[in-house]
Amino acid sequence: MTETADLIATEHKLGAHNYKPLDVVLTRGEGVHVWDTDGNRYLDCLSAYSAVNQGHCHPKILAAMVEQAGKLTLTSRAFRNDQLAHLYEELAELTGSHKILPMNSGAEAVETAIKAVRKWGYEVKGVAENQAEIIVCSDNFHGRTLSIISFSTDPDARAGFGPYTPGFRVVPFGDIDAFAAAITPNTVGALIEPIQGEAGVIIPPAGYLAGVRDLCTKNNVTLILDEIQTGLGRTGKLLAEEHEGIEADVTLIGKALSGGFYPVSAVLSNSEVLGVLKPGQHGSTFGGNPLACAVARAALKVLVEEDMIGNSERMGAYFIEGLRQIRSNIVKEVRGRGLMLAIELSPEAGGARQYCYAMKDLGILAKDTHVNTIRLAPPLVITRDQVDWALERIAKVLTTA
Ligand SMILES: *Cc1c(COP(=O)(O)O)cnc(C)c1O
Repeated sequence: MTETADLIATEHKLGAHNYKPLDVVLTRGEGVHVWDTDGNRYLDCLSAYSAVNQGHCHPKILAAMVEQAGKLTLTSRAFRNDQLAHLYEELAELTGSHKILPMNSGAEAVETAIKAVRKWGYEVKGVAENQAEIIVCSDNFHGRTLSIISFSTDPDARAGFGPYTPGFRVVPFGDIDAFAAAITPNTVGALIEPIQGEAGVIIPPAGYLAGVRDLCTKNNVTLILDEIQTGLGRTGKLLAEEHEGIEADVTLIGKALSGGFYPVSAVLSNSEVLGVLKPGQHGSTFGGNPLACAVARAALKVLVEEDMIGNSERMGAYFIEGLRQIRSNIVKEVRGRGLMLAIELSPEAGGARQYCYAMKDLGILAKDTHVNTIRLAPPLVITRDQVDWALERIAKVLTTA
């Protein structure tokens, strides 16, 4: 057996089958590229679901990680460390948030926000005990914990895992009237992705988020935007909320907060919501650890210093224009914002996965989502030449079908 086939067989035998990855075994990454065990090079058009916005193994983030790993990695929050305050300061300066709570995975940031906003509902808004409701959207993706999948509308994510956590009200994404109708005196929060990534890069109608913002303000509802995927430059702005000129009360970030080196997430708050958490009421052994903080500081620094957000806006516009010029009878729609792009194929195309395999054979790694959609989200450091290189190959795959 070849090394590659061996590794795949071992994964299959010993690992739980909760993923169905493309059969490419990666061993090295640099910038927008990754290499497999056979030495083939690929353009990474997934970026680990936007965790690697800064490009693979960014040398400055790597240096910060190595330096901090040799000094101090974990203290727990029982003691203080000399990195956390700096991360707070830099995040506050960058995002304008007043209170920050560091966690590890994205799902933990979501859980933290749910806990905080419920408590805020009882202690500040005056909702009766255990009556708090949070509005969420259909086709949402906010992570994999039990409370989060309790309000998923994806049967794969939800079915068989009950009993479910109550207290959530699902409304259709993008429908402002449905959102308004779902608000009750017990509504403490609304949890929304500004663009739904896992659902297939679904952009809500113009004005929707501004309308949601307005309704939340008028009804004393905390607006929580999950920017774990859309944030940190992916859509061509630091945060996707900027496209609508609004500000969430609570913003969740993760993924690219570490540039892919380490799980780091954070709850950013510009309201009194995080203030309700008192010592002992919430925490995490690894949350806010010095290694995570040093890595996150470097990841944020290069994002800004190397103008990755501006590059995302420019290369995103160039990429989507190129995709729209591809004449193919299997493309139903091309959509996206910044470098968060998707090609939706017509149902007759027979599913996106085979096209992802065809792209892989030409040196591009992309992931199908929701059967008919190919998501394209390369690292934000991609150049015009690299976009041209990708367009040529994507066109070949979509027109020789
Ligand atoms: C990835 C993602 C999460 C969950 O993050 P994990 O680190 O996988 O727990 C939550 N929300 C959105 C929008 C995401 O894309």
